[in-house]
Amino acid sequence: MTATVIDGKVFAAKVRAQVQAHVAKLRESHGIQPGLAVVLVGEDPASQVYVRNKHASTIEVGMASFEHRLAADTSEADLLALVNSLNADPKVHAILVQLPLPAHLNSELIINTIDPAKDVDGFHISNVGLLGTGQKSMVPCTPLGCLMMLRDHHGSLAGLNAVVVGRSNIVGKPMAQLLLGDSCTVTIAHSRTKDLAAVCRGADILVAAVGRPEMITGDYVKPGATVIDVGINRIERDGKNKLVGDVHYESAAKVAGAITPVPGGVGPMTIACLLANALTACCRVNGLPEPDGLTA
Ligand code: NAP
Repeated sequence: MTATVIDGKVFAAKVRAQVQAHVAKLRESHGIQPGLAVVLVGEDPASQVYVRNKHASTIEVGMASFEHRLAADTSEADLLALVNSLNADPKVHAILVQLPLPAHLNSELIINTIDPAKDVDGFHISNVGLLGTGQKSMVPCTPLGCLMMLRDHHGSLAGLNAVVVGRSNIVGKPMAQLLLGDSCTVTIAHSRTKDLAAVCRGADILVAAVGRPEMITGDYVKPGATVIDVGINRIERDGKNKLVGDVHYESAAKVAGAITPVPGGVGPMTIACLLANALTACCRVNGLPEPDGLTA
């Protein structure tokens, strides 16, 4: 069997086009322009690239982009003051504080200071609780993108066995909650799971969010399963830098029914979902209908 490739780039372009069209409608009918504020503290090179891409994508769909770049030694009080001023700013409908923050800053405190209605990453404890109890929330972008691709590929996910490898707060746990919300039978696996390969082979849907290059090989995959590879790992191979996932693509694609590639799978969907979440936040605060299919 050779798996169908789930093309995240193509899917993300559709989501961005949908967001762009809805943003244009908001401006025409209501004179509202959704605004996304991104806060970057310090000079982490990967974070700088992410923030640059987020800014460009925000402008591209017609939203207002507010970038705040702060020095690495910014005090917690100053960062909290900025977050509070963004909370109070009516032009800002969505706030993202780029993680990781420098070690002297308390990430939990900063994230939990963001107004939950503007918490576009869905990491505020209120949004975590709302998602966990099946209520309307801001949903973390990466798992939301995975869910959208799975719904698109399968239609209904009800009754499917899903295994999520990884239990982080930003990917594994919210992914499991979303799959449960769509009535999958969900297993969360992690570094202490016994016989991980056997657990994974029980999955109709296998989501890998491990952070270990190409760890999930073909013998972890049930024939015909859908494999979603969240991993982004930079490795050196044959003297070249390469981006690989947590799934060993070649061997997994021989067994799976469908698979996301790296790059070009989950990655592009994450940024598209960030824009979708910013739009959703703007619609909610203005009491306007949300666009179809862009939330959980
Ligand atoms: P993380 O916080 O490091 O969590 C990794 C999880 O994998 C942990 O729960 C860990 O288990 C588990 N794990 C580690 N080694 C394992 C093993 N040998 N067997 C089974 N489970 C194991 O990572 P994360 O932030 O969730 O990110 C996961 C991956 O997704 C990374 O490659 C990251 O770069 C990528 N990512 C991509 C996007 C995107 O936009 N595409 C966004 C976010 C993250 P324990 O809890 O037991 O330690």
